[in-house]
Amino acid sequence: MSFILSFFGTVFGVIFIIVIIISCILLGVYKMIGFNNLKSLIFAAKNSKTIKEVEYSRQKNVSGMTKLLEPEIIKDFSDFNKSLLYDIIEKNLMKIFKAIENKSTSEIKNDEDMILIFSTLQQYIEDLKNKNVDIKYSDVVFHEHAIKNYEKIQGMATITTSTTLEYYYSNSENNNEQYSNIKKQTRYTCKFVYIYDETKLGRNKKVFSIHCPNCGAPLTQFGNDMECQYCSSHFEPINLKLWKMSSYKEDYK
Ligand SMILES: [Zn+2]
Repeated sequence: MSFILSFFGTVFGVIFIIVIIISCILLGVYKMIGFNNLKSLIFAAKNSKTIKEVEYSRQKNVSGMTKLLEPEIIKDFSDFNKSLLYDIIEKNLMKIFKAIENKSTSEIKNDEDMILIFSTLQQYIEDLKNKNVDIKYSDVVFHEHAIKNYEKIQGMATITTSTTLEYYYSNSENNNEQYSNIKKQTRYTCKFVYIYDETKLGRNKKVFSIHCPNCGAPLTQFGNDMECQYCSSHFEPINLKLWKMSSYKEDYK
């Protein structure tokens, strides 16, 4: 009799301790991430999904100080219009997604809006080709845009933007099923530059690593007469006095 009692005593004791530990963990997680996220975390655990998928489905917030920075930009560039800039972000990101999907830069080769990001994107697409990786983006929906930073250094003004969006994403790398048409909420940080004084550029020149569309050699002159030093092709001069996207980066991987 006393054996059975102590047996049940031990079993209940162990169950009690386990319940206490689980409660502490849930309480800790709840304090860290809040009720709604805890709910989706438990939901994901029930469906044996990963925490990564929960993170994917969480709509992101733009990080920015538009109200503070917009008047500063307008003070320097009276014709600045943030809606136009946001339009370019959406158009450019769509062109980038399409180029990555098709693993081809032919459609953006002579695109003035893409001129400063062309060579980085081309390199990325070459890597995808070499690794035989397919990436797909579908049902892209943009949520919000914000201005994150603004600075003027050495003849060049830079605006950093923050954009939230969602899309269905597939990535064939490592045959990972986790990335097969998964809905992803994400955020991109982009930079736009405007050269207001070419003569003061100095080390800012490296932003302009433009390559000859004919032979691929780096172009060094951006004056009125643009000529490739290697193949002697001539080009239309680039209008530097326009906001041009110089980089883009996904904040969540
Ligand atoms: Zn050339």
